[in-house]
Amino acid sequence: MIEIPRELLPEDGRFGSGPSRVRPEAAQRLAKAADLYLGTSHRRTDVKSVVGRIRADLRHLFSLPEGWEVVLGNGGTTAFWDAAAACLVERRSEHLAFGEFSSRFAGVVADAPHLETPEVIEAEPGSRPDAKAMPGIDSYCLTHNETSTGVSAPVAKPAGADENSLVLVDATSAAGAIDIDLADAGVDAYYFAPQKVFAADGGLWIALMSPAALERSQRLVSTKDNGRWIPASLDLVQAAENSAKDQTLNTPALATLFLMCDQLEWMVENGGLAWSVARSAESSSHLYQWAEASEFASPFVTNPDHRSPVTVTIDLDESVSADDLCAALRANGIVDLEGYRKLGRNQIRIATFPATPPEDIVCLTACVDFVADALRG
Ligand SMILES: *Cc1c(COP(=O)(O)O)cnc(C)c1O
Repeated sequence: MIEIPRELLPEDGRFGSGPSRVRPEAAQRLAKAADLYLGTSHRRTDVKSVVGRIRADLRHLFSLPEGWEVVLGNGGTTAFWDAAAACLVERRSEHLAFGEFSSRFAGVVADAPHLETPEVIEAEPGSRPDAKAMPGIDSYCLTHNETSTGVSAPVAKPAGADENSLVLVDATSAAGAIDIDLADAGVDAYYFAPQKVFAADGGLWIALMSPAALERSQRLVSTKDNGRWIPASLDLVQAAENSAKDQTLNTPALATLFLMCDQLEWMVENGGLAWSVARSAESSSHLYQWAEASEFASPFVTNPDHRSPVTVTIDLDESVSADDLCAALRANGIVDLEGYRKLGRNQIRIATFPATPPEDIVCLTACVDFVADALRG
C-alpha cells in the first residue's frame, strides 16, 4: 500500500461532488440539537422555523427581487424536473445538453406526453453550446454548472426570445458558489438541491421562482382542459402555498433541513455569495494551475472560460491510472475523486464547494503528486 505522509494529508478527506463534504461543525451541532429536533413534528414551530430561516437566508444570499418566492419540496432536483415538465413548460422547451444532468432534463420533457418534442442543442462533453432564441419556445432550460463534465455556462435569456418565455436554470451544483444576478440574467426559476454547495444531505429541491414562473404554474395547474395530469407531489402551486407557510406537502428529512440551514448561516455570516464565490474560485484556480503545470495531469475542459469553479475535471496521462490513483487515495482517507463513470475517461473530478477550505485543496494536490510519483515508479 502507498502510505501518504501524515503531514501532507488534508484535514478532511472528502472531495466528492455530491453528496459533498458536510462541515464537521454542522454535523456536531445537529448531534447536539438531536434530542429536541430529530423525531419531532415537522408541523410544529421548531422545524418550521428552520425552513423559515432557510427561506430567509436564500432570499438574502441571492438578493431576491420583490415578488420572487423560495419554494421547496421533496425529491431533489430530479423531482423538480418532473414538476417543471408538469407545471412550467407550456408546450415546447429548448435545452442545452452538454453532459449527464442537462441531458436528463431534456429526456424528461421528451417523455412527457402533453409536451411537444423539445429542441435540444448539444455539445461534446467538456464544451458547451449556446442558447438560441427560436419561435414557439416557451421555456429555455439551462444548466449553470454541468457537474458531470466540469463545465459551467453563462446564464442569460437568449436575445430575441419571446418575452413571455421562461428561463429555467438547473443550478444544483452552482447555486451559492457561482455568481449570479437572477433578475439581470432574466432567470425565472433557479433550482437546486442541498447536497452540493449547501453541504447537507440530499432529498429536497429548492426553487427560486420569479413572478412570471409563479404565474405560469398557476395558469397551467388551474387549466383543467389542457390534457395534463399534475400529480399532487409535482404541483408547484401547492408547493408554493406550503412553502409560504414554511411547510412542505409531505414529510421532509429534518437532518437535511438542519444542515442546509447551518451551511447557509455560515455562508451569510462570512460575507454571503461574493465570499463563497471567491472561496470556490480560489480552490479551483489552484487545481487548474496545478494541472497545467503537471507532467501527468491536464484540465479536461480546454477552454479556460468554460472551466467550472466548483467541479474540477482533470485528465491523467497513461502513466497514471485514475482507478489506481483513486484507490490509493481512498486507502489514505481521501475519497470520491472518481470521475463521472459514463464519460469513460482516465480522469479525476474534485469538488471545490465552499465547505472545503482552499488549504485542503492545496494539501490534496500534494497528496495526488505523492501517489502519482509512487505509481509512476
Ligand atoms: C446532482 C445534480 C442533479 C441531481 O440532483 P438530485 O437531487 O440527485 O436529483 C441534477 N443536476 C445537476 C447539475 C446536479 O449536479
